Amino acid sequence: MVVRSVNPRNGQVVKEFVSNLPDDVLTALAKGREAQRKWMSEWNREERIEAVLELRTALQAMKDDIIATEMLEGGFPQKDVIGTYNGVIKGFDHYAAEARATADYDFPLDPAGWPDTKATINLVPHGVIAHIGIWNYPFWQTMITMIPALMAGNAVVFKPSELTTMTGLKIKEAFDQTGMPSDLIQVLIGNAEIGKAMVTAPFDALVFTGGRATGLDITRNAGVKPMILELSGNDPGIVCADVNVHEAARGVASGAFSHGGQVCIRIKRLYVVESVADAFISELLKVVARIDVEHQIGPLIREEARAKVREKVHQALQAGCELLTGGDNLPGLGYYFEPTILKVSDDSLDIIKEETFGPVLPIRVVKDEEEAIKLANESYYGLGATVWTCDPKKGEAIALRLEAGNVWINEHGRTINCGELFQGWKCSGIASTNRRITLFMKKRTIVNHLACQARPHWFK
Ligand code: NAD
Repeated sequence: MVVRSVNPRNGQVVKEFVSNLPDDVLTALAKGREAQRKWMSEWNREERIEAVLELRTALQAMKDDIIATEMLEGGFPQKDVIGTYNGVIKGFDHYAAEARATADYDFPLDPAGWPDTKATINLVPHGVIAHIGIWNYPFWQTMITMIPALMAGNAVVFKPSELTTMTGLKIKEAFDQTGMPSDLIQVLIGNAEIGKAMVTAPFDALVFTGGRATGLDITRNAGVKPMILELSGNDPGIVCADVNVHEAARGVASGAFSHGGQVCIRIKRLYVVESVADAFISELLKVVARIDVEHQIGPLIREEARAKVREKVHQALQAGCELLTGGDNLPGLGYYFEPTILKVSDDSLDIIKEETFGPVLPIRVVKDEEEAIKLANESYYGLGATVWTCDPKKGEAIALRLEAGNVWINEHGRTINCGELFQGWKCSGIASTNRRITLFMKKRTIVNHLACQARPHWFK
């Protein structure tokens, strides 16, 4: 089996790779276990943190190479790739501080009920983590798992998305320049077949970023193990009656079309209050007309992805939606699709209910903000949401009623410190805790009866 990196800007194959075999998964797991034991027994916490910081040095030395690789096989605009690269480099300090602050702690017990007893919460790495990667931010999304997972004391077996294998291998190349045990990070090349073998293998935890349908398949097959699932979103945006149409139109256009619309947290359906609808939409169309698709948006990742988006728009038009702009492929080489805006009045249509992973924005005009909130929440997704208003208090009041793990007011999609505190609600994901370092650890509760004497409540 072969996987290919393709340049989405011209459709040419950049590189071919021979895939690993499903049996390689168990071998990698065994090697990861050995490496992880070594990592925990021969390095103390500070040494581990310092060793992971060596990875930053290696990635810095490879900066131009990493950025060029990601742009080549992802087709992403340079600004986006540089932004996420810089975010990762900064993230090392953040995670190092978190790792240093994360330690076992005593749990206070009431001496009346628990005389002579001490309780300690002992934090332990999961062990070997399977990480099934995604292609839309292949460097960033991988590193925000890898850095905290390593600092927490784990080994990682990582499968990059088959669409961005080269970026995955660049990360491994940087890792190999550090002094960490060589099998602490292993990369498996391949598509869903290898992903499936990883899901059923007895890893100590599983991290997956990708589509909801794949997430459902994983939950059916993974058995019982700790899982972090970062899945699809269908983020609503709400444009309030008091909005500044000029400013908000720019923000909404960026939030909807950046990165080719291939972002988990992007505005994927927009509710505009009718009193400002005409003015806002006309301003939004002006902003969209100015977009330089090649440099500001970029192509879609593959022809199949573009065909899917085009078909979805076509179906929406057949169902009565009004096309305000775009709607088709751009002519020429590369998988470019026009930034597209549709006016929708039927909330049951797929274009509103289901995520579209491309530069498409359906707009629904609503009576007021109450109707917008109600419709925004009528979704089984709960990743992000935005509110556009000149009244910050009103923005917060609406945010508190939105069923999403991340809400931005007059902003969109900027995550805090490398995805720290990033959580999908409903079907948009599973994460078990709030802080990222502890996401990669389990707890052992130790209750120590110091007096070594029989307790009154024991059998006589
Ligand atoms: P996908 O789900 O098809 O593939 C992602 C990875 O899973 C790839 O490495 C693939 O090889 C592997 N895979 C595919 N099928 C598998 C299976 N049955 N078992 C195990 N592994 C399998 O990816 P996609 O749908 O093209 O990705 C886009 C989706 O990812 C969008 O829905 C987007 O919203 C979501 N996403 C979410 C986040 C987040 O943080 N929540 C971030 C980025 C992307």
